[in-house]
Amino acid sequence: MPLIDAVPEKWRGDALRVADAVRGLDRVLIAAHVNLDGDALGSMAAAGWIFHALGREFTLYSPTGLPATLDFLPLPAKLHTSLSHLPFAPESALLLDCDTPGRLGRELAACVADFPSVNIDHHLGGPGMGTVANWVTPDAAATAQLMACVALALGEPLTGGLADSVALGLITDTGGFCHGNTSADVFELCALLTRGGCRIADLREQLDSGWSMGRVHLWSRLLGRVRLACDERVAVCPVFREDMRECHATKEEMEGLVDWFRRIKGVRVAALLREEREESCKFSLRSRGWVDVRAMAQALGGGGHRNAAGGTIDLPMAAAEGVLLETVGAALAAQEAAR
Ligand code: 5GP
Ligand code: MN
Repeated sequence: MPLIDAVPEKWRGDALRVADAVRGLDRVLIAAHVNLDGDALGSMAAAGWIFHALGREFTLYSPTGLPATLDFLPLPAKLHTSLSHLPFAPESALLLDCDTPGRLGRELAACVADFPSVNIDHHLGGPGMGTVANWVTPDAAATAQLMACVALALGEPLTGGLADSVALGLITDTGGFCHGNTSADVFELCALLTRGGCRIADLREQLDSGWSMGRVHLWSRLLGRVRLACDERVAVCPVFREDMRECHATKEEMEGLVDWFRRIKGVRVAALLREEREESCKFSLRSRGWVDVRAMAQALGGGGHRNAAGGTIDLPMAAAEGVLLETVGAALAAQEAAR
């Protein structure tokens, strides 16, 4: 069977179009949103493996670096954290899992318009920020799923590091194949990855284990702190810098905690608010089904997906929590009324 036949029919045209654009790139800077998660890193690594197979020069860039929680993934090249220390001067860019220049980090946001670029993403946003080609479809569970389609359209089999990278993105963004975005296409792609030798269970095991005691202490502290608001339909938990310090935990080690709060009976929105600086807090929102947290995040200048979104509020914790709960409570009431 030709590899392109493994791309869902609805995406074949886009996959071939974007594959052509990707084939035309060389000396490529590969980047994604700051604070890499499994899909951002997975789709970047997948892109690297594709350029490696095509014989192109490429470099992986993320200003916030490689999170220790994801350092088990074999990468096709070193990940660079500064544009001034790259192995070559990039002549083009592939922008992944990212919907606005600002989310690329300040350094790249300032110069991204200077490069011919391709943007591949599954966030619900605009038409894309690529100057050469864009493929933005919120129908995809993960950007890594789209990268797999691009690879297949280029005739690249999904094996080795490429398969692992795609799988990591899928596992992360489907919450281990549990979230509502876990479509038949996702399972079909997983079957293909498994036949190509990818051990999805091993990757999951690596993602789910290796916890530091600092992480255990932080989670136990925060599980004890979560409280209910907005008629017990919102779970909210503030995290202070001193929590991270005292527990010797990193912000990456918060990954997944907010999903636990969503499990509380009656809770429609789970919210985690982490103090980044004196007057700046990062928030994470999670929901299920029709409850749209992306709209709530967007109202606060952030973004994301319907059931997983985030952003930053430039206020001290107490004020940030007030603004967050007010916005979430009002939006939830409006969404409920509109049903
Ligand atoms: P998390 O809560 O895990 O940081 O992010 C959940 C989702 O929201 C991800 O898709 C992420 O890309 C998006 N997101 C998180 N923070 C921001 C933000 O500050 N701005 C935008 N536009 N999206 C964000
Ligand atoms: Mn993603």
